[in-house]
Amino acid sequence: MQRECVFCSRDERLDHLMIEICELSVSTLYLYKEQSYFGRCVVALNDHQRELFHLPEETRAKLMEDIVRVAAAIEKAFLPDKINYAMYGDTMPHIHFHVVPKYKDGENWGNAFDFNPNRTYFQDEQYQAMIEKLIKYLELP
Ligand SMILES: [Zn+2]
Repeated sequence: MQRECVFCSRDERLDHLMIEICELSVSTLYLYKEQSYFGRCVVALNDHQRELFHLPEETRAKLMEDIVRVAAAIEKAFLPDKINYAMYGDTMPHIHFHVVPKYKDGENWGNAFDFNPNRTYFQDEQYQAMIEKLIKYLELP
């Protein structure tokens, strides 16, 4: 736990960017508020770790299973043509993956997604409807 880390503190800096959906095996799933890529989510490791190679093999495998599970739910919920995965973290060095649905007739098809286009935001009810759909397809116990 690092107090200055937004993923550890889970404070208003994180709330500004994303909405917590649920805990998974070793990570937490968030809906990204900027929705230029409809269904975009973030999967953040629960422990404060900077690099995948710093993780024990078992944790790394569980994290990958969490990501795969989220991607499968996104596919069922939003029917994208492809899902992109990205791990950056220069300024937020706590392992987290952007899980980004892409659509053939949508933005940046065939290219890298824009990290923060800062133009597509929804009302709370629409975020809630998306979250309910994701939860349904995550098949949580
Ligand atoms: Zn952290």
